[in-house]
Amino acid sequence: EKSYKLDPWASAVKLEYDKLFRYFGIKPFQELLPRVSQVFGEPLHLMNRGVIFGHRDYETILDAYKSGERIALVTGFMPSGKFHFGHKMVADQIIYYQKLGFEVFIVIADAEAYAVRKLDRKKVIEIGLYEYVANLIALGLEKNKHTHIYFQTNYEKPYYRLIQMFSRKITMAEMEAIYGDLEPGKVVAALTQAADILHPQLEYFGGFKYVLVPVGADQDPHIRFTRDIADRFENELGLRRPASTYHRFQTGLDGNKMSSSRPDYTIFLTDPVDVAVRKLKRALTGGRATVEEQRRLGGIPEKCTIYEFYVYHLLRDDRELVRIYNECKQGSLLCGPDKQYAAELLAKFLEEHQKRLEKARDRVLEYVEPPEF
Ligand code: SF4
Repeated sequence: EKSYKLDPWASAVKLEYDKLFRYFGIKPFQELLPRVSQVFGEPLHLMNRGVIFGHRDYETILDAYKSGERIALVTGFMPSGKFHFGHKMVADQIIYYQKLGFEVFIVIADAEAYAVRKLDRKKVIEIGLYEYVANLIALGLEKNKHTHIYFQTNYEKPYYRLIQMFSRKITMAEMEAIYGDLEPGKVVAALTQAADILHPQLEYFGGFKYVLVPVGADQDPHIRFTRDIADRFENELGLRRPASTYHRFQTGLDGNKMSSSRPDYTIFLTDPVDVAVRKLKRALTGGRATVEEQRRLGGIPEKCTIYEFYVYHLLRDDRELVRIYNECKQGSLLCGPDKQYAAELLAKFLEEHQKRLEKARDRVLEYVEPPEF
């Protein structure tokens, strides 16, 4: 009853990412869905809708979970701007795995923000705490002994020891192949990222566990780099390669990139409801030029940022999503009323979220210790 397949969406994703499968050895996630249901129970909506489209070694995670072994979910945020719905998509994954009992390691990449992005320290720390950590709490991230949030500049000693040790077994040529032009800040940032991903396996952090890293496809070079490092330190430190999943990024409301630096086309979770609704109502749809044409030809949900919002965030019920997809295709649903519906769902979500956020802001220091300077 639950297995509504959203083929249209999945096939659109497939086309776009074919190259990754063919050239980089990333495997389609879809093939694993039956096993995901078996092992984890209900898959996250992002999984069966093709948003999470690829993986490396995810089988090892399923096997480990099935046999009761420990698994760490590692992910990071660059505290450079406000928390938007692209970040929420990652948060949804973190919380899904936390509920399954994974240990959770969340990195606030403040060292990289300072050294590579050249951002102001004070601002970065502030944003890390009151945008990222606060929103994660409001979205449902729980505080427990298996959840660790840390700033890269303010963590435990063995983590820094890893960064120093890693520097011995990689070459500049290898790094240049990934990062292009190098400067010291980037070298340190890359080694730091590898430590972010691998440190949960150290004895100091509770001993060996499998590691899963959910990333955007553009982050795969970091994953490959980290997998190489793990191989080179397998004997010395007992490190093993991380597994990874790859997600597709939600586009901005004009169909281009969603980003904090494009606030007109990006909805932040702190946007006042009327501002958010206004942005949504101006969004690019897959509608036709005239009502008559849309009734005759139907809309194109695959090209619609409103539909995308349903897929990623606004509709958790697959039946409801399929209904909208079909009605749009058939031309019985028009963009005006549909935008209105999406706007109501968005407003409802934001109102509730922002109430939780207010309380969450008072609790950030229970979750993470900020650096002194
Ligand atoms: Fe998008 Fe809805 Fe218009 Fe279809 S009817 S194109 S899903 S806004």
